[in-house]
Amino acid sequence: MPEKITVDDNGNLIVPDDPIVPFIQGDGIGVDIWPAAKTVLDEAAAKYGKHIAWKEVAAGEKAYKDTGEWLPKETLETFSEYVVGIKGPLTTPVGGGIRSLNVALRQALDLYVCLRPIRYFSGVPSPVKHPEKVDMVIFRENTEDVYAGLEVEAATSVAAKMISFFSETLGWEIRSDSGIGIKPVSAYASKRLVRAALNYAKKHNRRSVTLVHKGNIQKFTEGAFRMWGYEVAHDEFADCAVSWDECGGEAGDKILVKDTIADITFQQVLTRPDEFDVIATTNLNGDYLSDALAAQVGGIGIAPGANINYETGRGVFEATHGTAPKYAGADKVNPGSLLLSGVLMFEHLGWGEAAQDIVRAMERTIAEKIVTYDFSRLMDGAKEVRCSEFAMEVVKRL
Ligand code: NAP
Repeated sequence: MPEKITVDDNGNLIVPDDPIVPFIQGDGIGVDIWPAAKTVLDEAAAKYGKHIAWKEVAAGEKAYKDTGEWLPKETLETFSEYVVGIKGPLTTPVGGGIRSLNVALRQALDLYVCLRPIRYFSGVPSPVKHPEKVDMVIFRENTEDVYAGLEVEAATSVAAKMISFFSETLGWEIRSDSGIGIKPVSAYASKRLVRAALNYAKKHNRRSVTLVHKGNIQKFTEGAFRMWGYEVAHDEFADCAVSWDECGGEAGDKILVKDTIADITFQQVLTRPDEFDVIATTNLNGDYLSDALAAQVGGIGIAPGANINYETGRGVFEATHGTAPKYAGADKVNPGSLLLSGVLMFEHLGWGEAAQDIVRAMERTIAEKIVTYDFSRLMDGAKEVRCSEFAMEVVKRL
């Protein structure tokens, strides 16, 4: 009998062998990548006597057509109730309606970490000389910064009031026809994000945690993020982590905690990728950095993502690309992003062996040059297969 995943008082997941897991197929290419990813996940789980009872929930265009809502309340409740879920890409409605379904989901469930591991699969076409040196895990803050969506439209009475308030109280000169965006960065959110990154580094024997920020300019938001990050390392992880200032870069067997300014980070992740390991950063930096890094190791077709709250155990695992509408239903695109998001979900469930099996099988499939169009167009001598065929090739190698 399928059962719910539950969480004990310490935030540990209790996962039955046949858990009920809600999923959103997703819009556009969701119709292609979801069945492909599901096939592989089911086969890998079955090898270990596990069976997932998938529970479909509605969101996006499909939900809007059926219910008039982009993100029905029941969907949020189901993700909350069943603790762990997975989703394909969703259309962001243009011109009104909900700002972003993904942002709404993350905020409603307080999934404060956006986890984006970026690693290289041998044989994947890459624009850089040494993609094999890329092995980073990004912890991007998910609940505040500009993505909190605190914005006021230009030429409205609220914008005018804010502009005159800032002028009177702070002497700021803001043009009268400006839209206004607020960028909150709190000690609470910064610290729990860095804490999660350090816990991850500790658990996975990672060498360093780099705090990426723009604190040279935005001192009280980005700069404060850096300061709070170091405070967490110093106050809570002194047994296993040491800051650059304290050790001059020689951390021994401890985790080295350092920081870099966002702009130079974009250069250094390209030129010296092996100097980066776990990265903890604010929301917008993390948004740009995740996609830029993914480009080094094969692009968004195979970049996985997870949104996690480590205290409640809740997680929503998701393809990082969009709905690619021009390919919808063509059985053409790479299912790798959603599949590897499923791998992250398995790891979160404690199903590490099944997760590793999938990664190894995918490595072998790509190494044998059996790939979807996005890779085959950049590889010599590749055998191009459809989305569903790629999934079957991975299953054969499990
Ligand atoms: P997109 O859907 O990510 O597609 C952009 C391009 O990325 C595609 O044309 C394709 O490149 C490549 N691509 C995407 N998925 C791929 C896959 N699985 N395999 C291989 N290549 C893949 O971005 P978009 O066109 O800007 O956005 C379309 C819609 O998706 C919008 O409504 C947007 O708001 C939404 N969106 C949703 C999410 C999400 O749900 N997480 C994220 C981003 C965007 P080529 O054309 O070069 O083949």
